[in-house]
Amino acid sequence: MEKIQHFINGEFVASVDGKTFENINPATDEVISEVCEGGRQDVHNAVTAAKTAFSTWGKTTPAERAKVMNRIADLIEERQEELALLETKDTGKPFSLSRHLDIPRAAYNFRFFADFVKGLSTECFEMEGVALNYALRRPAGVAALISPWNLPLLLLTWKVAPCLAAGDTCVIKPAELTPTTATKLAEICKEAGLPDGVLNIVHGFGPDSAGAYLTEHPDVDLISLTGETTTGKAIMQSAASTLKKLSFELGGKNPNIVFADADIDDVIETTIRSSFSNQGEVCLCGSRIYVERPLYDTFVERLVERAQALQVGDPMDESTNVGALISREHLHRVEGFVQRAVEQGGRILTGGKRPAHMGKGCYLEPTIIVDVNESCEIVQQEVFGPVITIQPFDTEEEVLAAANNTRYGLSGTIWTTDLKKAHRVAGQLEAGIIWINSWFLRDLRTPFGGMKESGIGREGGVHSFEFFSELKNVCVKF
Ligand code: NAD
Repeated sequence: MEKIQHFINGEFVASVDGKTFENINPATDEVISEVCEGGRQDVHNAVTAAKTAFSTWGKTTPAERAKVMNRIADLIEERQEELALLETKDTGKPFSLSRHLDIPRAAYNFRFFADFVKGLSTECFEMEGVALNYALRRPAGVAALISPWNLPLLLLTWKVAPCLAAGDTCVIKPAELTPTTATKLAEICKEAGLPDGVLNIVHGFGPDSAGAYLTEHPDVDLISLTGETTTGKAIMQSAASTLKKLSFELGGKNPNIVFADADIDDVIETTIRSSFSNQGEVCLCGSRIYVERPLYDTFVERLVERAQALQVGDPMDESTNVGALISREHLHRVEGFVQRAVEQGGRILTGGKRPAHMGKGCYLEPTIIVDVNESCEIVQQEVFGPVITIQPFDTEEEVLAAANNTRYGLSGTIWTTDLKKAHRVAGQLEAGIIWINSWFLRDLRTPFGGMKESGIGREGGVHSFEFFSELKNVCVKF
């Protein structure tokens, strides 16, 4: 069985205290690797290596950093099949998704930020006849990068790439359920010529473990987390004593608003993707579907029919649309939400159970629930699984009030052929990312992030550099 080690100062090492934990493939229930469990000393060693490396990496030019990053992208592409297979074994997601989305996007993250950093500008303001102000951009220091399990390499590289491009060094704490591709990234970075200590990895758990030790370490200057809202709250507390800079991408309970004039074929196909892609384990998945009453019955009938046609099963089978959920614990959690939704009056139109043909593994059929209202737990809490609700609405005001009636504010989609209405609703939806007649279209230059309890700050393009660098203003008197 493979042993997954920490990566500290350019070397793969075991935990100082020798502790390990098991990594399980959720599609087969098999133990696939033994992972080193980081403790306080491992975290300290990694942070020290990152701090030392910062003194040289932080002084390299953007062009020098871009060269290494493009090499990293090349190597990810060369190892695409291997990385996709490992990602699928860790997560249970369809191999086709790992191969066509997760891994290519991870490579692209490096290429994108390598290009972007070379063209970055700063500000310059003249106080006419008096003085000139110009801003200098400088790396911010040692970053803690804490990533989730749902799109492991894609989301991790979305942090690592701008971090390295900005001239920062980092300590990564991958999600404990998906440690493998992060470790392969370390191999790739070494081969690409990234200097020792610039990128370090400590595996382990969150609270009272490697994650917490990292976020409270005094030599960590900034923390970028993608994870649950409760995790963001815990990290904010532990970061407070040394006032670290924070960037949080957190949970969502995203509304899809479908007006009666929407293109029904388009909306059905996209809603199937936005509801059940990656088993619904995408922060941007729409899980609350609001449909204008004249279209409601047709929409429900057609969506149920399409959901029932999805193939749930072996992630390695090319025809599989929905793979396994990330773990048995998570499967039970999602089933608990479904059960309580029914207890609160919800009616399951399809799904709600494990597929009969799958013996082993953490599978759940795509699940559609109706007859719920705004106070139901299933409408308020993030499930992070293949479970959606559909509710009818009569007016624009009514649907906006319902859509905004949540502590989350990550994303939302609006379906209508009336562009005036689309812009009006987009302006009033309380979410950081809005799609009109589409979903998951991502231009990496645009701001990405959530409002309310879905996050702090924005990632993407210049916004990533606003986090990963410091600006200092220089004022020169004429
Ligand atoms: P999680 O919060 O449980 O874990 C995320 C990471 O944080 C893991 O590496 C974990 O070990 C670490 N962690 C947990 N508690 C910690 C603590 N107290 N201190 C330091 N580190 C800690 O999230 P998850 O279950 O891995 O991922 C699913 C969640 O992530 C969902 O809520 C989802 O919406 C969210 N997510 C958000 C986005 C986004 O862009 N907004 C993207 C993907 C996932």
